[in-house]
Amino acid sequence: MGTEVSVYLWHDDPEKGKEAVAAVFAEVARLDQMMSTYIDDSLISSVNRDAAKHPVAAGDELFELVERALDISVLTRGAFDITYDSVGQHYDFRQRLRPSEQVVASELPLIDYRLVKTDRNQRTVHFLAEGVRINLGGIAKGYAVERGVDIAKRYGVRHARVTAGGDTRLLGDRLGQTWMVGIQNPRNDDEVAVTIPLADEAISTSGDYERFFVEDGERYHHIIVPATGAPAGEVRSATIIGPDAVMTDALSTSVFVMGVDQGLRLISTLPDYEGIVINADGEMYYSDGLRPPD
Ligand code: ADP
Ligand code: MG
Repeated sequence: MGTEVSVYLWHDDPEKGKEAVAAVFAEVARLDQMMSTYIDDSLISSVNRDAAKHPVAAGDELFELVERALDISVLTRGAFDITYDSVGQHYDFRQRLRPSEQVVASELPLIDYRLVKTDRNQRTVHFLAEGVRINLGGIAKGYAVERGVDIAKRYGVRHARVTAGGDTRLLGDRLGQTWMVGIQNPRNDDEVAVTIPLADEAISTSGDYERFFVEDGERYHHIIVPATGAPAGEVRSATIIGPDAVMTDALSTSVFVMGVDQGLRLISTLPDYEGIVINADGEMYYSDGLRPPD
């Protein structure tokens, strides 16, 4: 998944505990093998290769996740859109490469989640135009940490923390204490902007400091505004807290794109979810359900 995965868990039997950790990592590796667009023989790569020609069988898991992603596109009015990748694929943050204006202009019409059709009975995915590509980078890590705690539970684990990049799923508390999860200062890797006590919940942060390069004072990073094909510029980070890591992951990416006002307005319509947004000036904004620290 191009990111760091960590697992903390407790088990009365140390051997069983180690088995549980290994099983969680194996699960993440399995999902990566299925959902990575960087792996040529992954299921998602076969969808991207063929779904414009004919409907492609996606298997239950990938199919469900694609459908959830499409639902979130509707919920966010297109701020979240897994077809962002027709432009997104032309970025290479390590090599400091970005698409030219011409490339963005020609690929932009292919960013549209309505070009992705799913068939519930056949479990197939079909693209309505040649060149459409999907990438689950904004939702798959949330799914992976959600699956990770499910696996840990099967081993009898009741207290765990599974993190993949900016996405964390907590199982239970930290042996009688709350988990303390820090939100990074977007402009200082060593500094925590705020720490949140949590138990039994998911928390996801999307930031412009994860994958980026700076060119002529402009920061080019990995979260794309589907309407323009350009990196989102309104905020530095968006954090979402709630019961389901798939949702917190997708919503953190969405709120990052939507900005403070629109983003927090969306969150206020979702009773189980809260958000913290740090804007381009470094100011923090909280959703109604969170009391700012004194
Ligand atoms: P992180 O990878 O840092 O945890 P996010 O959860 O915010 O961050 O996911 C960012 C990833 O989401 C990008 O690397 C890309 O794969 C994907 N992405 C970028 N823009 C969008 C978008 N508008 N809608 C859906 N996914 C996106
Ligand atoms: Mg996300």
